[in-house]
Amino acid sequence: MAYGYNGKILYLDLTTRTHEIKTPDERWYRTYFGGSGIIGQKLLSEIRPEADPLGPENILVFACSVVTGAPISGFNRYAVGAKSPLTGGFARTEAAGYFGPELKFAGFDAVVITGVATEPVYVLINDDTIEFRDAAQIWGLDNWETLERIREDTGESKIRVVSIGPAGERLVPFACLQNDLEHFNGRTGMGAVMGSKNLKAIAVRGTGKLEMADMDKVKEIARWHRERIKSHPPNVGLKKFGTPGLVQGVNAAGFLPTRNFKEGQFEGAEKLSAENYHKTIFSSPGTCWNCAVACKRRVELDDADYPLDKRFGGTEYEAIAALGPMLAIDHLPAIAYGNQLCNLQGLDVISTGSVIAFAMECFENGILTTSDTEGRSIKFGDADAMVWLIGRIAAREGIGEVLSLGVKKASERIGRGAEKYAFHIKGQEMAFHDGRGKTGMGLGFALSPTGADHIETPHDVAFQGEGISKLYPLGLFDPVDPVKTDAAKVRFFYIGQKAWGINNLLGLCNFCSVPIHAMTFGKLVEAVQAITGWDTSLYEIVLGVERANVMARVFNNRCGFTPDDDTLIRRWFEKMPSGPLKGMRFDPAAFKGWIELYYQMSGWDSEGRPTDGKLIELGLDWLMNEQVS
Ligand code: SF4
Repeated sequence: MAYGYNGKILYLDLTTRTHEIKTPDERWYRTYFGGSGIIGQKLLSEIRPEADPLGPENILVFACSVVTGAPISGFNRYAVGAKSPLTGGFARTEAAGYFGPELKFAGFDAVVITGVATEPVYVLINDDTIEFRDAAQIWGLDNWETLERIREDTGESKIRVVSIGPAGERLVPFACLQNDLEHFNGRTGMGAVMGSKNLKAIAVRGTGKLEMADMDKVKEIARWHRERIKSHPPNVGLKKFGTPGLVQGVNAAGFLPTRNFKEGQFEGAEKLSAENYHKTIFSSPGTCWNCAVACKRRVELDDADYPLDKRFGGTEYEAIAALGPMLAIDHLPAIAYGNQLCNLQGLDVISTGSVIAFAMECFENGILTTSDTEGRSIKFGDADAMVWLIGRIAAREGIGEVLSLGVKKASERIGRGAEKYAFHIKGQEMAFHDGRGKTGMGLGFALSPTGADHIETPHDVAFQGEGISKLYPLGLFDPVDPVKTDAAKVRFFYIGQKAWGINNLLGLCNFCSVPIHAMTFGKLVEAVQAITGWDTSLYEIVLGVERANVMARVFNNRCGFTPDDDTLIRRWFEKMPSGPLKGMRFDPAAFKGWIELYYQMSGWDSEGRPTDGKLIELGLDWLMNEQVS
């Protein structure tokens, strides 16, 4: 008997509107575990490298893990993966909320979507009843209207819904998925893949119960974890202020990306502080399934220009950075309103802020003029221009049609030197942490299989002083200097990436888990044992993380990525012009050397291809000789 998971993968064929249930054995689950592992296995075995990301041959995978839905804080995330329309390579993006546990309670561990529906549909998973329902009436609606209409249509007020907004329908390559309006699979354009399949939403109702191998032990760990969350400083901070609490610290340290990564400090940061947020726009805290941290924020404001509705999801750190400092805007209601628009339209706010920053810098330098922007000025600091541009991008009209391609393709289309201001890695826009202030994170951005990604590795700043003790079980004993890059930092990143990767493999929220937050590796392993009944170990779980990372790498190699794609943005090779990090930069030649050292540590050859020995070690010999298309 399976504990913690269902042993069932649901396949939905949109072309034929049929479904099939596959039942992998325990060995398969123990090899791939969940999230990043299941997605890697499915993408490599079911997508040809030359597949069009927006064509019928792409697949879309929703994957929980063997522990998703266990009653421990943060055991609630699921991942979504496909071939990315933004990067042309491996895509994976995680979200918390309630959708993942609900899918498990409905009896499924993952959903694999194939084909294309001839007309818009949404899929209803009601325990073991699967329906393909007509979505013609909701096609074109924003995410809030979609959620309401599906609740009405199903008569279920508590149904959990993942949907796309109009941006996904229009195939904006950085369109996101949203669940229950407050939680996001934001990165890598999964909204466009879903839109290309004419799939508006997946609605799930699950009334089943997950069996745990040792429920008493699971409850004991859950109690211990809840108690620890109450006093563990990073969790105490998150509970009080949510991620907006990061703004002031990041700005003070000098790595708050400002004006399209030109600077690392924003003169208006005080106005964006958590204190000001809570005084002006905060409505109430929110949470995810069974989480004691409750870091989510909801915002509300009765304002003629920037009305905020608490139902539409609050403004997190990344959204503040995207629509605030990146655009030199210090008006919180406008920023929160821009975020609300992105949420309703289904745009990833990180990529949206980046592409607007790119356009504003092009405008500042005369590369874009009012003749390109329908006569409108789009200068840094102009909040109304930001709001207008979000609407144009979601509609794919006027200048928005070009910007909706993402910074890489938009700069190629514009020409005239626009590439100089287009900041992305592997085609994905940057999240808002300047790597010159945390160099391990810089390595993470360069080496992430999904392109620039801030959740590929734990942030260096957490491992100064005693913070490093959380990583002792992985053999890391020395605190790291956030701004130094040397062999020790590469080792820190190589091992830290595995620590962080556990969260993506097992579907754990980073804000509840190891290494920064309240969980410990010891208790985590005990939890996996108690949930699954497996005599597992940290070694076996970390092996799963490495297997997932290698599968993503092989997928990208097959899609034509090379070591030249494992790099940083131009600005990070240049000296930081001001602030506490003034003069800091990555040396390009040295950085190349650090990447090569990472390849060596990983058992990859000089072209960044996992060696046959590494593939055999990980049980991935089925991928040998298939790495390059
Ligand atoms: S810490 Fe925040 S994001 Fe994570 S599960 Fe809890 S409420 Fe959700």
